[in-house]
Amino acid sequence: MTDIRFHPNDDILTCYAAGDLEPATSIMLSAHLELCSHCRARVAELEDAQAQKMALVPSEPLSEELNDLLDTILRHPDLPRDEVAEATKAHIEINSKQFMLPRALQQHDEQIGPWSRLPGNIKRAHVATGGHSKMNFIYMDCNSALPQHTHQGLEITLVLAGEFMDEHATYKPGDFIVQTSEHRHAPKTRADQDCLCLTLLDAPLHFTTGLATLLNPFSQLFFR
Ligand SMILES: [Zn+2]
Repeated sequence: MTDIRFHPNDDILTCYAAGDLEPATSIMLSAHLELCSHCRARVAELEDAQAQKMALVPSEPLSEELNDLLDTILRHPDLPRDEVAEATKAHIEINSKQFMLPRALQQHDEQIGPWSRLPGNIKRAHVATGGHSKMNFIYMDCNSALPQHTHQGLEITLVLAGEFMDEHATYKPGDFIVQTSEHRHAPKTRADQDCLCLTLLDAPLHFTTGLATLLNPFSQLFFR
């Protein structure tokens, strides 16, 4: 996909390559990498650099056990990807439509909760990931809007299908949008275009304008 405009920064990619991200962020990252050849290439570079750095550190000889394990792994090439996908649920359904799940979630489809309604013609399905952050599929139907809000923590949004827009830009599949307490925005969809996203929030939203500020006591609704 060539028209991805928003990518994770080098800090996040470096942590990912080093295996230092918490599981939920790591799922967001791998879902982006599936769609973004540019970041895949960058991660490969970072992994190479790390491997070279490690090669410079004198290491203990491998134990026999580890040697055996490596042997086994090397003798069993990966399952063809199609077989893996067939064995697990590959789609998520909403609004009588099927959307392809990111691979990282195909093995965990039992962690994806049922859809529930949010204000503004928006639906959400929670993804249980363990950690403190909350991961959700967010489905914005055509012509839906969320009141302007800011974030008390970090919000990562990955567009999976369709598109949505806010005051700053239009976001398309593969776009990886990181927002902090410094950003405020009012996401919405066009009358003829819905949008499916995967989001990760580490604190409740905070609504900033007009009547929507009345929603703040309920903003925990968005943080489940
Ligand atoms: Zn990218």
